Amino acid sequence: MKATVTVGRIYGIPIGVHYTWLAAFGFITWSLAEGFFPRFFPGWETITYWWLAWVSAASLFLSVLIHELAHSAVALKRGIVVQSITLFIFGGVSNLRADSGRALDEFLIAVVGPLTSIALGATAWLTVQVLSDDVGALRALVSYLALTNVILGAFNLLPGFPLDGGRVLRSLVWGVTGNFARATALAATAGQMLSFAFMGFGALQLLEGRILSGLWIVFIGWFLNTTADSSRREEQVNDLLREVPVSALMGPAMTSVRSDLSVAELVTDMLLRGGRRVAIVFEEGRLAGIVTITDVWRAPEGRWEEVTVSQIMTHAPLLSVSPTEKTSVALGLMVGRDVNQVVVSEAGQLVGLLSRSHVVNYLDFPRATGDRREVDS
Ligand SMILES: [Zn+2]
Repeated sequence: MKATVTVGRIYGIPIGVHYTWLAAFGFITWSLAEGFFPRFFPGWETITYWWLAWVSAASLFLSVLIHELAHSAVALKRGIVVQSITLFIFGGVSNLRADSGRALDEFLIAVVGPLTSIALGATAWLTVQVLSDDVGALRALVSYLALTNVILGAFNLLPGFPLDGGRVLRSLVWGVTGNFARATALAATAGQMLSFAFMGFGALQLLEGRILSGLWIVFIGWFLNTTADSSRREEQVNDLLREVPVSALMGPAMTSVRSDLSVAELVTDMLLRGGRRVAIVFEEGRLAGIVTITDVWRAPEGRWEEVTVSQIMTHAPLLSVSPTEKTSVALGLMVGRDVNQVVVSEAGQLVGLLSRSHVVNYLDFPRATGDRREVDS
């Protein structure tokens, strides 16, 4: 997800905040200060409501973060790399590298988030019971956290993609039938039905004159609908790439160059004349890195004679996969590290290169042949 600001790292996982969260933060603070708190805890000063609202919104932010960290902790424990956590208007997303290889992994990773939220909510509710009326503001804050965490947990348990409950549903169907593609399709369809239910319910609220809550529910339904649809497509691509080993799509081992070559020589000798976009770089006979056409633009124009390959290349250790690895995993790796290619190696030997364009060409192929068939008939 683009348009995010990284606010920090926890266990090395970058925590990003999408700009929609800033809008949500303002809206939540305002609606708590002007609506929720004065209504349920009347008789306080305006300033009290505002700082209480601000602290509550920040605590909600922390609650969502804890929910996401629970997903990440289980993923890490199951050996799945977590690339980042992004918080946005409807909550959070943990971006896992590749997908969980087994139904049990997916089940545990998905279910722990909502359970954590519900446990937090229950703890907050128990705390409210023992707090005295003397600490009214604290009581109001903890009550709010009890309510929101339980809602957060329950909402995410709804059984439709892309919600956690949809992943739980998928892992169960996957585990029982052994058919990942069918499980994905079912969870995505359930997600779309859920989104229509939300939009219908929101529309009813609007008709009854509840404008704000009606709009909000329609908006949630619309959001679920678009994400269910795009995750279905993403999953279809993943299903396709899961069947294909890297060795089927990769290009041959590449042109090699020396690291002390100038950029000018690199461009003329290797990339232009050979028509190659990538070359591996050797230093004293050892693999030192990789250099691509894109790297060339890092050298200021007019200084191509002085700048050497070693100054612009990506240094070893390089991202590397085995030729028998699933292409879906290799693509996840490239997307996660924001690079365009990975080297393919077997027993320490370089055997090829897989780039994003190899994958794109492969995915376009069925469509291209389909078009041709249409022309023929
Ligand atoms: Zn979750």
